[in-house]
Amino acid sequence: MSLLGKTAVITGGAKGIGGACSRVLHRERANVVILDIDPHGGQLVEELGPGSLFVQCDVSKEAQVIAAMEKAVSAFGGIDVLVNNAGIQRYSTVTETSEEEWDLVMNVNLKSAFLCAKHAIPVMQRGGRGMVINVSSVQAFITQSKVAPYTTSKTAMLGLTRSIAVDYAPNIRSAAICPGTIDTPLLRDAFLLSPDPEAVYQECVDMHLVKRIGLPEEVAELIAFLSSDKATFVTGQAFRIDGGLGIGIGGSKQ
Ligand code: NAP
Repeated sequence: MSLLGKTAVITGGAKGIGGACSRVLHRERANVVILDIDPHGGQLVEELGPGSLFVQCDVSKEAQVIAAMEKAVSAFGGIDVLVNNAGIQRYSTVTETSEEEWDLVMNVNLKSAFLCAKHAIPVMQRGGRGMVINVSSVQAFITQSKVAPYTTSKTAMLGLTRSIAVDYAPNIRSAAICPGTIDTPLLRDAFLLSPDPEAVYQECVDMHLVKRIGLPEEVAELIAFLSSDKATFVTGQAFRIDGGLGIGIGGSKQ
């Protein structure tokens, strides 16, 4: 699964799923360019060493995305893989969501993926080929109460994935990854919104057929496979990595 000779740009790559992705792709010998609003991406680059670069930026802002892609190209000569992973969660129904909050979730989760693809694809085309991986969610297929903007943004990412596949075939490919509950800072912060975080954690464990939540590294390994030359017949599809979340019929014995 060697990614030797490839350069991967990973948004939200400082921690959580993106952090694991930065580590796993670098382990597979890709150059990794970490785009994150969180300055801790600098520490991860120190840990990874040569073949890694941190660019602090807000990927929902076009000027910052353009500057970040230019830095990636000047450091490593091109871009082969883009992982659109940066995302935020907010909890509200349609009637509870302010216009500002709707725009924030759409901008960080969806517009950022559009902007990064817009400015990475021409670089990929100059290199001859490329892969765009959009980190969506199982919430593109099933949903829960009070996540209207989030679930909408994650569902739209599947449309973006198909558009990229169709518009830039055959040399640029795309895929969406749809994780179930994954143990990251985003999830741990969400648990803290409850008066009983441990009970919410247990509820999440019980929802998955495998009776645990996922690890960021498990998602990163799938992203590494899709980034590699072993996955060159994949394009335009969504892949659930969710421990069987949401496929059981209530009351069925496992
Ligand atoms: P996380 O732990 O919060 O990590 C996300 C990283 O993205 C953070 O470093 C965050 O910085 C950064 N970020 C946020 N807004 C940004 C922006 N505008 N520009 C650049 N960087 C930004 O989240 P995660 O749980 O790893 O989630 C990663 C992706 O997986 C998200 O798209 C999420 O929706 C998706 N996902 C997660 C789960 C799950 O259970 N964890 C399940 C399904 C899908 P700050 O912390 O400073 O904001």
